[in-house]
Amino acid sequence: MPPSHPFDFGAVDPDGDGDTLHEECGVFGVVGVADAANFVALGLHALQHRGQEAGGIVTYDPEHGFNSARKFGYVRDNFTSQSLMETLPGALGIGHVRYSTSGSKGPTQLRDVQPFFGEFSMGGAAIAHNGNITNANALRRELIDRGSIFQSSSDSECIIHLMARSLQRDIPSRMEDALRRVEGAFSVVAMTRTKLIGVRDPLGVRPLVLGRVGDGWVLSSETCALDIIGAEFVREIEPGEMVVITPDGGVESIRPFRPRRARFCIFEHVYFSRPDSIIGGRSVYETRRQIGVELAREAPVEADIVCPVPDSGTPAAIGFSQESGIPYAMGIIRNQYMGRTFIEPTEQIRNMGVRLKLNVNRALIRGKRVILVDDSVVRGTTSRKIKEMILDAGAAEVHFRIASPPTAWPCFYGVDTPQREKLLAASMSEDEMRDHLAVDSLKFISLDGLYRAVGEAKGRDPERPQYCDACFSGEYPVEPSDQIEQGFRLKTAAE
Ligand code: SF4
Repeated sequence: MPPSHPFDFGAVDPDGDGDTLHEECGVFGVVGVADAANFVALGLHALQHRGQEAGGIVTYDPEHGFNSARKFGYVRDNFTSQSLMETLPGALGIGHVRYSTSGSKGPTQLRDVQPFFGEFSMGGAAIAHNGNITNANALRRELIDRGSIFQSSSDSECIIHLMARSLQRDIPSRMEDALRRVEGAFSVVAMTRTKLIGVRDPLGVRPLVLGRVGDGWVLSSETCALDIIGAEFVREIEPGEMVVITPDGGVESIRPFRPRRARFCIFEHVYFSRPDSIIGGRSVYETRRQIGVELAREAPVEADIVCPVPDSGTPAAIGFSQESGIPYAMGIIRNQYMGRTFIEPTEQIRNMGVRLKLNVNRALIRGKRVILVDDSVVRGTTSRKIKEMILDAGAAEVHFRIASPPTAWPCFYGVDTPQREKLLAASMSEDEMRDHLAVDSLKFISLDGLYRAVGEAKGRDPERPQYCDACFSGEYPVEPSDQIEQGFRLKTAAE
């Protein structure tokens, strides 16, 4: 069984009611180092914010062949034991962390935990996938009809079966064949007995970077995981690029897909990536601070203090304070040590909800007009509770400023979002949300303001948007065909 502690995760969703967005995966791989598994474990630890429910590592060693370990829980609780790590020998390894998609797709089973492994006539291969395949249902039906036997409920397993059906003579070519059939978002890290492979989908929706450690090479979802192992950032894998890396240091770059205009996920800048990562040459922290600056320009308000909803609202709150001149204050303190103590929470503890994770700094709040800066509003339940805590502590006024535009559409590219009907912004205007949350004011950054904060001086190009922003705009860069088949309705011209 997966762990059932709803407040054990980085994001503030203490009730486990889906009132937050979750990146579903992080991937990491290394070749050309002694004890690759230790590097992979450290890399996954640095990527833990991208998925806390389960993780897995596969390594290859000529004497022992492929070895794997897949576990529920944190990397630090599983991949630190010497006895386990000794079962993962070799100089080549990949790993994966994943977030539970329970609620939308049911609880994860161990068989859903990646990396997935396939044995082919030319040798084995393991893959780890970040993203979401939007035609997975159709592919799965086709593959099952043709005799494939699926082991998991994961969309990513389609890639292994498509590789098995390819007639190409080597594994990288089989991967190319397989990924040409796949639609949606994929950043894949894979390995054979001798090669480390990284691929990004043609739009480059999810991130993937290349690094160098000693004589070895690293692939990682984010640069923060390069730092932890002392690796040097080399470059991003480009949208639509496949790199095939051999232990002797060769990095071959292949372009398997028809070129398309890149549409990186703009929400990685707002929320998903770690603030100490670099994306597209920009510091994520600096982008988030700049979002706060834009918010202060777009939605000024008279107040006494600016407080972040920790931790993800912090850089934007700093930017808001710097631009507005209103003092920054830590009006809400996050309990960093929640988690393992309450693996089996009682109903009484569950009902404490948000107070388990966040506490108001009462002495600071009393009598003040407070601006609260948060990263997003999803269902609104947590925002309401935080507002109540602030008012209970004696605040004179509460003004919410949100570092992303209203999230009115679900993501189908690797982020777990509630169904559209459950998103507050899907059915309410900004003013209606303000009344629903019962706050003195509520303002979201505009889509153009967000684009300016990520470095697009002229804002969003409506004809050729520079990023994926479908969860705000409803304009999906890849048609979510599985979801449409299941009844999802795309935005109409009138909306
Ligand atoms: S829909 Fe939103 S969260 Fe999903 S990839 Fe696009 S911008 Fe990112």
